[in-house]
This record gives sequence, structure tokens and C-alpha cells, in this order.
Amino acid sequence: MYKAGHKFKIVSCPEGSLTSDVATRRYNPAIFDKLAKNWNVDELLPVMTNLYQDIENELGQQFLHPVDFTQPLNENEIRVWNERIFDGDFSDYMESADIGWIKRGMDNFNLFNRVGKSGYLDLAKLLAELKKFFKEKGHLIEANFKYQDIGFINGHITWHGVTAKTIVFCEGHHATKNPYFKNISFIPTKGELIEIECNKLPEDYIIDENLFVMPMGNSRFKVGASYDYSKQNGKTVLDTKADLLSRLDRLISLPYKIISHWSGIRPAVSDRRPVLGVHPNNQHIAVFNGLGTKGVILAPYFAREMMYSLVNRNYILDKEIDIRRFSEESVSRRCIS
Ligand SMILES: Cc1cc2nc3c(=O)[nH]c(=O)nc-3n(C[C@H](O)[C@H](O)[C@H](O)COP(=O)(O)OP(=O)(O)OC[C@H]3O[C@@H](n4cnc5c(N)ncnc54)[C@H](O)[C@@H]3O)c2cc1C
Repeated sequence: MYKAGHKFKIVSCPEGSLTSDVATRRYNPAIFDKLAKNWNVDELLPVMTNLYQDIENELGQQFLHPVDFTQPLNENEIRVWNERIFDGDFSDYMESADIGWIKRGMDNFNLFNRVGKSGYLDLAKLLAELKKFFKEKGHLIEANFKYQDIGFINGHITWHGVTAKTIVFCEGHHATKNPYFKNISFIPTKGELIEIECNKLPEDYIIDENLFVMPMGNSRFKVGASYDYSKQNGKTVLDTKADLLSRLDRLISLPYKIISHWSGIRPAVSDRRPVLGVHPNNQHIAVFNGLGTKGVILAPYFAREMMYSLVNRNYILDKEIDIRRFSEESVSRRCIS
């Protein structure tokens, strides 16, 4: 919206988000379990890279850190992997398995794959810098938004003196309480991470095997994550920590120190796809959500789609991500028109 010169305001609560604000987030073109590519990665990845690089140029800071991924594989998996490398569809991302690639740290394993065009985004830093940037430009209002404060007047929406054509709700897992999108089937998924210090573990790749181990610099690594569909609070749990540590101990054979432990809630949707678009029965309200486990790679492409659909109301969103896939009746059950 900013680059395209459209008028907008961002309302964000001053405390920020448990999910994004303390985070460093991976992006990875492959689904390791299935030895396959991620959904739509050929379209998503270039848009993601361009957008974060544009922001880096504008703000003069680095946020995107390209780092290869690796995963220990058994002999059969290595055979499949090596076949895929010669399949033109995969060869852009998959590097040939190289036994010498992992030199230390994972003594229980002998064979590894290697995925390129992957890495991590320093999301906490990016959000802090973007908030500063948009505040200076007068686009950011730091406030706790309450649904009852919205008004609908003369074909516009109003909120605390701000008048707009449309409000886009990008609330992460808080959207489960949104009265306008009551029946989008959100499945908020709690996740926990630990941070460790490990002096001898190499810092030039991200390990992804049942759990990930991501280098943060200065011998610090993020280790995670858990998936809990039942508890939707931000509290860390000792059992989850123990489980993460036991999985870590099976993976690496080096001493480490635990630095911290934290949790967040992923805004996932039942069909595991983003959900966006203008409300079927109220053109003043829109939603942008469902980024689930992959906000880093999904957000840039689908934010652009969201913008196209706001600017041109005849723009057709892909059915797979369009809010209309949730039945009109269910989406609009409590809609004010
Ligand atoms: C443990 C864990 C590990 C993860 N790892 C990865 C990873 O490696 N790679 C990856 O791509 N993704 C990862 N994710 C998922 C990623 O964090 C999400 O996809 C992403 O945060 C979703 O962004 P969002 O903006 O939709 O929601 P959020 O990050 O939750 O942001 C929503 C924002 O809306 C604000 N807000 C909500 N309600 C209000 C209100 N009433 N008033 C004002 N402001 C409000 C919140 O304060 C917040 O700032 C992980 C998530 C977890 C929990």
C-alpha cells in the first residue's frame, strides 16, 4: 500500500504480538517429511525475496539471512532425494546430498540432504523497524482496537476519528474473537521454542529433522517447535520443554546451555491456506489471516493479492485462499451490513 501510494493507517497494539515480535522465522522451499516442494513456492519465493530486499534498501538494514537447510536422511530417502534433483521441477532448490557437508554435531547420522534458497527472517527486528518507520510517516496508530468502536457512516467506516473505505483485520489468532468472521474455521496452534548456547555446533546451516535448530550468531540457536492444538494461551509448559530437549538430544551430540523458553500461537485455518478478501456481505470489512506456520513466505505474496483486491473490487482472488470458500452464511452470521 505504501509503495503503491495508497492512503492507509495501521492500528497495532503497543504491546505487540507474542507470535511475531519475539521471533526469528525460517523460510524453506521444501517440505522435508515428503521430500517435496512447499505449496506454490515458485511464485511465493521471488515475491518474498523482492519485498524483504526492498525493505532492506529502504531502511538500510539487513533482515533476510539466506542459510541452507539440511536434514539427516536414511539410504532410501537419499535415493529419492537424488532422483528428485534431476527432476527439473525440484533442481532449483535441492542440492546434492553430501556426506562431508555436516562435519560435526550430529554423530548419529551419516547421510544428509541440502536445500538452498532458504534461510531466516529477523522478524522481531523487522517489525520494530517498520513500526518506527510508519510511526514517523504518520501511518501507525498504537492502540488496542475494540470492535464496538467501529461505526458505519455514509458508505464509510469510522474509528476514533479515522474514516476509511475498508478496514482489513490482520489480527493473527485474535481473529477467533472477531464477530464479523465468526465461522472461518481457525485452528490456532500453540508452539513453543527454546534458545540454547552450543559452542561447537556449526552455524552455517539450519537443521530440520523433526525439530529445527537454527543458528542465531554468537553460538546461540533457536530450537523448536512444538504443535499444540488444545491450549490457546501464551504460557510455556515444562513438559513441552522436556520433549523439545529430548528430541534435541537425539539429534545433536554436543553439550549446550539452555538460555530461554517461550511460546506463541500460530493463526492457522482448517484447510491450511491463507484466508483473505472483502466480506461477502459488507464491502467495508476485509480479512487477512491464516498464515499458519509459514507467515514469512506467505505474507508478502498474499499481502500483494490483498492490495490488488482492495484497489480493484473486480479482482478475482484464487479460490484456494479467498474468504468466500467459507460459506457465505457462515462468514456473515453476525455481519453488520
Ligand atoms: C513457535 C512458533 C514458531 C514459528 N516458526 C515459524 C517459522 O519458522 N517460519 C514462519 O514463516 N512462520 C513461523 N511461525 C508462524 C508465524 O509466526 C505466523 O505465521 C505469523 O506470526 C502470522 O502473522 P500474523 O500477522 O497473521 O499474526 P501475528 O503475528 O499474531 O500478529 C497479529 C498482530 O495483530 C495485533 N492485534 C491483534 N488484535 C489486536 C487488537 N485488538 N488491537 C491492536 N492490535 C491487535 C497483535 O498485537 C499482533 O501484532 C511460527 C509460529 C510459532 C508460534
